[in-house]
Amino acid sequence: MLLEVRDLRVEFTTREGVAKAVNGVSYEVAEGETLAVLGESGSGKSVTAQAIMGILDVPPGRITGGEILFQGRDLLRLKEEERRGIRGAEMAMIFQDALSSLNPVLTVGDQLGEMFVVHRGMSKKDARARAVELMDRVRIPAAAQRVRDYPHQFSGGMRQRIMIAMALALRPALIIADEPTTALDVTVQAQVMDLLAELQREYRMGLILITHDLGVVADVADRIAVMYAGRIVETAPVHDLYKAPAHPYTRGLLDSIPRLDHKGRELYAIKGLPPSLTAVPPGCPFHPRCPMAQDVCRTDVPPLYAVEPGGAAGLATGEGRGSACHFWRDCLEGTGSR
Ligand code: SF4
Ligand code: MG
Repeated sequence: MLLEVRDLRVEFTTREGVAKAVNGVSYEVAEGETLAVLGESGSGKSVTAQAIMGILDVPPGRITGGEILFQGRDLLRLKEEERRGIRGAEMAMIFQDALSSLNPVLTVGDQLGEMFVVHRGMSKKDARARAVELMDRVRIPAAAQRVRDYPHQFSGGMRQRIMIAMALALRPALIIADEPTTALDVTVQAQVMDLLAELQREYRMGLILITHDLGVVADVADRIAVMYAGRIVETAPVHDLYKAPAHPYTRGLLDSIPRLDHKGRELYAIKGLPPSLTAVPPGCPFHPRCPMAQDVCRTDVPPLYAVEPGGAAGLATGEGRGSACHFWRDCLEGTGSR
């Protein structure tokens, strides 16, 4: 396994108290696999990624438990120096906002080239040639000229391609993309997502795609992990999840995206807001918003139940499915109220 996150816990101390931003999260990413991590803002999806990358220091978060095994090594036991060696070279991250991630006073050629100079000991000239190659590869027109331009001279979509090129430069085994297309126009979003998926397949990288948008993951991800209030509430192969969600929260998310096959059906909106992480409700953290909630939901925290192949849902396999809902069966078979 390329990456195994086991029972990860991250806390932040805030004025309101201790926020359990990541509360016992486990997931795996195999070589060449794309895992989509889905959730609203504050669900813990980005914080988990920052813990994996070892960049949790702003704002001050503490890892209070768990393991992060990357190619068998527990990253949480490595020295900062060793982690720095892994960052960029073996795992890289793509952020939502390229403009603030790129250095405004360096040309993109210098920024891309620097990766090769610093990590691969290349001459400036060779590094520049590699930068042009990379820009070409992410389909930036006239790369040989544009390599001398500064980040602000590119459109948002082109800047995001440059971010992808930077992440890919050293051929890492794992890429974490945190809302990589959220800041872009819808048409550009699709192009950038397609490019990322294509490169992921070509280089057989593991990819963690963090998003709040269930619409973007269907064609790209192999598996999906849905997060809510610092926990994973559902995990499944992406097509199984689309066909029949086993958690009411996932079902709410699915019902709230426009789908061609549901033409004419009114879009649904999950009522209410996610809880503050310093005041997570007892029992199932989703219960105040859940249309299927029963008394037990207000007192008993649901574990991540193994989801077996669903009868009425007609799923061929229950392989690797989990749901943190006491009534996952009803949800899967679509018999719960909404
Ligand atoms: Fe809803 Fe209860 Fe399931 Fe939580 S455990 S998602 S409240 S039905
Ligand atoms: Mg985020």
